[in-house]
Amino acid sequence: MLYNIAVDDAMKPFKLASWDKKGSYTHIKIDSGAEPLLIGEGYCTIIAGPCAVESEEGYLQIARFLREAGAHALRGGLFKPRTSPYSFKGLGRQGLEIMLEARRITGLPLVTEIMDIRDLELLGDNIDILQVGSRNMQNYSLLEELGKLHKPILLKRGLSATIEEWLLAAEYVLDGGNPNVILCERGIRTFESYLRNTVDIGAVALLKDLSHLPVLVDPSHATGKWKMVTPVARAAIAAGADGLMVEVHPDPDRALSDGKQSLTPENFLKMYEQVSQISRLVKNL
Ligand code: PEP
Ligand code: MN
Repeated sequence: MLYNIAVDDAMKPFKLASWDKKGSYTHIKIDSGAEPLLIGEGYCTIIAGPCAVESEEGYLQIARFLREAGAHALRGGLFKPRTSPYSFKGLGRQGLEIMLEARRITGLPLVTEIMDIRDLELLGDNIDILQVGSRNMQNYSLLEELGKLHKPILLKRGLSATIEEWLLAAEYVLDGGNPNVILCERGIRTFESYLRNTVDIGAVALLKDLSHLPVLVDPSHATGKWKMVTPVARAAIAAGADGLMVEVHPDPDRALSDGKQSLTPENFLKMYEQVSQISRLVKNL
């Protein structure tokens, strides 16, 4: 008996994130937009926007477009984790005002990355979904602080994280008392270097079996190439993802970050149409 308990514990190190433990899927409700938004099994939530908020005019233009196109939430980086300290690192506080204006105009909830717990005061009250980026997936003190909130946390997979490490990172937030965790597969580092990362579509299907948490895919950071974004987005939804987070820029050639992986508005429309069709099919399976 004791032996069985030990085996079970060893096999399920993530307790609160496990599907077996809860027995039903988690749906995360966001009430701050014009219409309530539900994220989880049975829905196909599209979060879209530029990598970073760059200017008021550009952000409001793309936000208006995305609202019309059917996106459910707006993304935009304010504090950007850049590989080089000399790259554009985001507009910070000034960019937040622009995002808030975009929410006022469109009614869409906002998603941005929190890199440092010192920014919680600024972002916590204003942003609807706080993103923990790949580079911070194992920043346990940040995860513990986010566990004290009730706000939805979009937890991206670490650059080289195993699925177990990723679920245990989610466990930190859940164990802190915050049940609102969304997982986001964004590709991992492998020996392959042609694409920016190697997207783990199998992980999507596996997570929907292992865990009750919503699973999104970010085909932009997963591939690094805009031409690959739509095919990977299709694959993600076909594999059972509950939605996508995708980078869209009004003029990708002039983007201050990640232009090469950003869809134009026109290409976003094509992706959206294809993904919607697949989503309808998958939900009826
Ligand atoms: C992002 O979504 O802006 C981002 C930096 O992604 P990741 O943490 O997956 O690299
Ligand atoms: Mn980016």
